[in-house]
Amino acid sequence: MTHPDIKYIERYGYTRGELERGRPVGICLFCGSEVFQGDEGFIKSFDGLFCNIECCHNYYEIDSQE
Ligand SMILES: [Zn+2]
Repeated sequence: MTHPDIKYIERYGYTRGELERGRPVGICLFCGSEVFQGDEGFIKSFDGLFCNIECCHNYYEIDSQE
């Protein structure tokens, strides 16, 4: 006998992708995506996290276009 809630968690509680990528370490300052420990190429700056170099560049380009 399996409780319906347990079935739900087994089915929707996590995805294989999340397991492979590990815990989220933060949110990208530019696009708002979650950044995971297992992601390749994420950037830590003085201000915060970016999911990749493109988001990092975009964020600071917008900031300097005055
Ligand atoms: Zn991003």
